[in-house]
Amino acid sequence: MFEKPIAAIATPVGYGGICVVRISGPNVFSVIDRVLSDKMDSVSERKNGTFFYSTIYDCETRETIDDALILVFHGPKSYTGEDTVEIQGHGGVIPAQRLLDAVLKAGAQLAAPGEFTKRSFLNGNMDLTQAEAVCDLIQSQTERAAAVAKCQLDGALGNKIHLMYDQIVDISSDLEHVLDFDEGDIANNFVLKTVQRIDALKFFIDDMISSWREGELLRQGVLIVLSGAPNAGKSSLLNALLQRNRAIVHNTPGTTRDIIEESYSLSGIPARLVDTAGLRDSDNAIECEGIKRAHALIDQADLNLLIIDRHEMDQQKIDSIIQFFNKNKLILVYNKSDLVQMQVLDLPANIPVVNISALNGDGLDYLKQTMKNHLGITDDFQTQPVIAQRHMEELRTTQNVLSEVLQLLKSDLADIVIAANYLREGSEALGRITGRIYSDDILDNIFGKFCVGK
Ligand code: GDP
Repeated sequence: MFEKPIAAIATPVGYGGICVVRISGPNVFSVIDRVLSDKMDSVSERKNGTFFYSTIYDCETRETIDDALILVFHGPKSYTGEDTVEIQGHGGVIPAQRLLDAVLKAGAQLAAPGEFTKRSFLNGNMDLTQAEAVCDLIQSQTERAAAVAKCQLDGALGNKIHLMYDQIVDISSDLEHVLDFDEGDIANNFVLKTVQRIDALKFFIDDMISSWREGELLRQGVLIVLSGAPNAGKSSLLNALLQRNRAIVHNTPGTTRDIIEESYSLSGIPARLVDTAGLRDSDNAIECEGIKRAHALIDQADLNLLIIDRHEMDQQKIDSIIQFFNKNKLILVYNKSDLVQMQVLDLPANIPVVNISALNGDGLDYLKQTMKNHLGITDDFQTQPVIAQRHMEELRTTQNVLSEVLQLLKSDLADIVIAANYLREGSEALGRITGRIYSDDILDNIFGKFCVGK
């Protein structure tokens, strides 16, 4: 199917103990033989899943490239399903590149992003949902995201879709034969049962579609922006949430002039937590730029935390600040609850308000819970598969087909054959999720998101 083996560095580019160059495809063993000593037996003689140690040479000049461990897989018992070799050489940018160059010179070609996994799919080692899970797992930023991706990689999503696919095909073929029944009553009973089966499928699909939101949160993460007047306690809150001193806390207004961004896990959902420059009028050019960026971030945020020090804030100031925010994405955080004598402010009723002390941690748990409620993050983290946008679109197509078919079944028996044919569109949509049916566009979209070497 493929003429040349593909090769790529499979470890991240940078300094490290070792690097791995992966090579897969036809003639891979003869390509590797060319970079080893002439005196060695062919790699093809090695047993599946075994390592051996060797010097690696430039196949033309016989210059020594590296000392390496070489791991041998015989297809189909490999990740790609093809003969595959992994060379572990010394880590570092240049040694890794030299190793790759030696293999390319010996007859391999550079792999495209995700090409190893694509070959694995094309060779039937995994379905498309599992291939997508490989990418999700690599890119996961929290344990929750990694656990969910791993369960999809183990086939949890694919199995559900395969099951539904089989059921639709089954219903469709049953319907095609229903008009063979002589007795009208039997046919009517049969239709009734079919309606129940389709209702159950629709219910199942609804349940899967409801996991989309969590899938998006896990894959895309959320942007949470902290803003407020200088000295309100934004940096203190950032540090309290991160549980370390990331931002400089100082009582000189304008200390945080630039944007500070940190990764944060909110119940396992990856978040970008951003501490902005204080919102206020300033003549200082650097501070003005910081304030401009703060406003841009406020517009992009999935959630804004407006930090307010009620000792410094009056009604006029709060009214002028609050106008910058989309009220549906806003939580007001009254900081410094450890101090007494707070001002009473008149605020829009529908915005959640949380009292905290960033200094001693009071109210932080409640703030986190309010943030989760606002973003629709649940605590009931189970390793259930969660769907992505692509799956949702195909599931919606299936759902629409099933609704149409229900209408047809409820009208005339003569429409049953049309319904049976129509069901095929629903099964095809499911087939596109798992890759029973695929096009170059679908594959390009999925594997284009991968890194080279996976
Ligand atoms: P920012 O300018 O909004 O980032 O504010 P900072 O986090 O730098 O805090 C400004 C000042 O307020 C510092 O002196 C902090 O120690 C103080 N501060 C922050 N949070 C609290 C709090 O909850 N209680 C009290 N009493 N002081 C706080």
